[in-house]
Parts: sequence; structure tokens; C-alpha cells
Amino acid sequence: MNLDFTDEDRTFRQDVRDFLLGALPDDLRRRMIARDHLGKDDIVRWQRIMNAKEWAVPAWPVEHGGQPWTPTQRYIFQEEMALAHAPEGSPFNVNMIGPVICKFGTDAQKARFLPATANIDIWWCQGFSEPGAGSDLAAIKTGAVRDGDDYILNGQKIWTTQAQHADWMFALVRTDNSGRKQQGITFLLLDMHTPGITIRPIPSIDGISDLNEVFFDDVRVPIANRIGEEGKGWDYAKHLLGHERSGIARIGLSKERLSQLRRLEVDLGACGVLDARELARLRRKLAEVEVELRALELTQLRVVAADAQGGGANSAASILKVKGTELQQRMTELIAELAGPAGLAMPEHDDGDAADWIAAAAPYYFTMRKVSIFGGSNEIQKNIIAKTVLRL
Ligand SMILES: Cc1cc2nc3c(=O)[nH]c(=O)nc-3n(C[C@H](O)[C@H](O)[C@H](O)COP(=O)(O)OP(=O)(O)OC[C@H]3O[C@@H](n4cnc5c(N)ncnc54)[C@H](O)[C@@H]3O)c2cc1C
Repeated sequence: MNLDFTDEDRTFRQDVRDFLLGALPDDLRRRMIARDHLGKDDIVRWQRIMNAKEWAVPAWPVEHGGQPWTPTQRYIFQEEMALAHAPEGSPFNVNMIGPVICKFGTDAQKARFLPATANIDIWWCQGFSEPGAGSDLAAIKTGAVRDGDDYILNGQKIWTTQAQHADWMFALVRTDNSGRKQQGITFLLLDMHTPGITIRPIPSIDGISDLNEVFFDDVRVPIANRIGEEGKGWDYAKHLLGHERSGIARIGLSKERLSQLRRLEVDLGACGVLDARELARLRRKLAEVEVELRALELTQLRVVAADAQGGGANSAASILKVKGTELQQRMTELIAELAGPAGLAMPEHDDGDAADWIAAAAPYYFTMRKVSIFGGSNEIQKNIIAKTVLRL
């Protein structure tokens, strides 16, 4: 297995870097560095710049706007995006519903939804979790009953990220209660402006109001908006969750965070905020994180190399999710530790935004608690690893 980059890969990396340097608006870059929360308008603006370059949905099939890149080039692209401080597009559009419609949608659904999804003319939200059906997702109860050419929906979803912005939701609903709970689940696309939908915000620990409950009260959804066959929704959901988890390690992002921590270490050492013992302790912690990050990167590259040779990467997605999110959280702990009393004495950073990102340390620490919960909690991923990798 060859883990080296080829000359072609290096040229590709430079092309991506050059493009991002010119295309990423400066205000977005600065706000990303400061860990400012980006709103819908910011994400849409950036995704449309990327879509004009035909790079908004590179992992989709080429006939639907994807790029004929190798798995290695896709990896390089993700890494360069993070290193350039470029925002990620809407994961619901790019990594979740887009690939499902590409693979399982009808021609009419592809024509109607794919171009609008790539350009975020439609903002999607994910209606999977329910009270009592998170880790045990197959326990969903929201019911859909046929009535002529429609289904009629009643029930509730929870933790629906950005439902308040969404034009459409992709949802799992129950159409049959008779067999195993994984059977009888159907995958529907529904217009969020349909009468009978109520959205109620859930306040969260990071102060950002992005989570919601969504209630359905006799909501009509045309049967034409069903993905694939009735009762086969669990298969389509598994395909979607595989895509959701594989990008979740976000190694490029962690690398970028680590280099910010390294810069902070130099600044704090230079201005004497940390004494020699504190600096030594910090350096040891950073070295530990760096070693783990390098090991994770090599694991990711092994997956990429296996993928390039046609091998399956599914069982590795859980490992990458657990380790990747643990490292992301470790970085936020270190940043919060450093930003405490030391933040007040920080000298201006060379790009002038150090004070901003010190101020953002606590909200960032709180917001990143979520990464070990969503996309399937880390405890559940460990169960999957125990079964599929360790064969316990
Ligand atoms: C910020 C955020 C955004 C989210 N966005 C969305 C969204 O847009 N759409 C959507 O559909 N969902 C979303 N979710 C929901 C998310 O998928 C669920 O929270 C997650 O699957 C866990 O389910 P739960 O919250 O019901 O917890 P539970 O399933 O009740 O789990 C509670 C705890 O028990 C542990 N646990 C449960 N079962 C086991 C087991 N068998 N073995 C070991 N440990 C176990 C879990 O790991 C967890 O620590 C979001 C969640 C968060 C935090």
C-alpha cells in the first residue's frame, strides 16, 4: 500500500491552494479564524462560489456535478479547505441527502433537487432523531399513512439542526409496524412550508440557537416525494450515515487548530505569561496531540489508499469518527485552558485576530461537545468497532 503523494497529487494540492487563496472572501476567512458562528447567508455565499467553480459537491457522481478526483485528491481537497479556513458547505446538502438522491432518487427527483441542492437554493435539514429514537434510530414512531396520492404524517422529530432555515427536510417515517423495527421505515422528502409543521427551538449550551423540535400534525406529503421503495428507508438511511461519518474525522481542521495552538505557545512563551515549567507541560501536551493526530492521519490515508484500490472503507468510518472527534475535543480543552487567565495578556497576533479567538475559546469548547454525540454517538461507534472490526 503506497501512502506517498504523487507529483500529480502535489500539483493538484497547489491548484486547490491557489484557488482558495483567491476565492475565499477575507471577511469569511477572518471569522473562521475567530471561530465566529457563520449564519445561513455566509454558508450559502461560499457554497455558491464553490459551485461556480464546480467544486461544491466533488464527491457526487460526475454526471450530477461531482469531480473525477481520486480518493487521495478528495482527501487533499478537504485538508486544503480546512488549512485555508474555508467554511464547510451544508453537510445536510453535500454529504447526506445529495448522495442519497444521486443513488436512489428517480430521474424526476434528480432533476428537481440535485442542482438546487448543490447551489443551496434548497436548504435541507435532517429529520431522523425522535424522543426515544436517537442511538436506537430504528425505534422511530412518526407515522405516515397513505391517503390517495399522499402520505399523512403525524409525530415529532427532535435535535433537528437548522430546521428554522430549512426549505426541505429528509425524514424517516414509519409506514408499517408489523415486522422487525428496521422494516416498515420509509424515507420521505418534505417541503417545510407544508401546513401542519411546527418548529420549536431548543436552547443549547453554546448559546447558538440551531437545534429544534419539529412537530407534524396531519402533514400531507406526496408519494412522489418518497425515496425508493416504501419500507426500505432503513437501507437508504444506512447509506446516508456512512457518508455522514466518513468526513467527520476532519483531520485538516485539527491540523489547523494544532498550528494555532503552536503559535499560541510561542506567543505565551515570548511574553512570559507561562513560566518554564508551564511551557514544558504545554509542549508535552501538544506533542501528545500531534502524535495522535499523525496516527489518525495515517489511518485515514490507509483508508484512502484502500479506497483508491477499490477496497471498502465502511468499518474504518467508525474508528475515524471516534478518534477524530476525541482529538477535536482535546484541542478545544487545550485552547480553553490557555485562553483562561492568559488570554487577557495576549499580544496581538500577526493577523490581528488573536483576541477574538481567545474570546471564542469557551463557546468553542462548549459547541464541540456535540461532535461525540451526533452522527451516531461515540459509544455506539465503539459497539460497531467491537462487532465489525474486533469481531467480539
Ligand atoms: C448538536 C446536535 C445536532 C444534532 N442534529 C441532528 C439533526 O440535524 N437531525 C437528527 O435527526 N438528529 C440530530 N442529532 C441527534 C443525534 O443523532 C442524537 O443525539 C444521537 O444519535 C444520540 O441519540 P440521543 O440523543 O437520543 O441519546 P441516547 O440514544 O438516548 O443516548 C444517551 C447516551 O447513552 C449512550 N448509549 C445509548 N445506547 C447505547 C448502547 N447501546 N451502548 C452504549 N451506550 C449507549 C449514548 O452514547 C449516549 O451517551 C443531533 C444531536 C446533537 C447533539
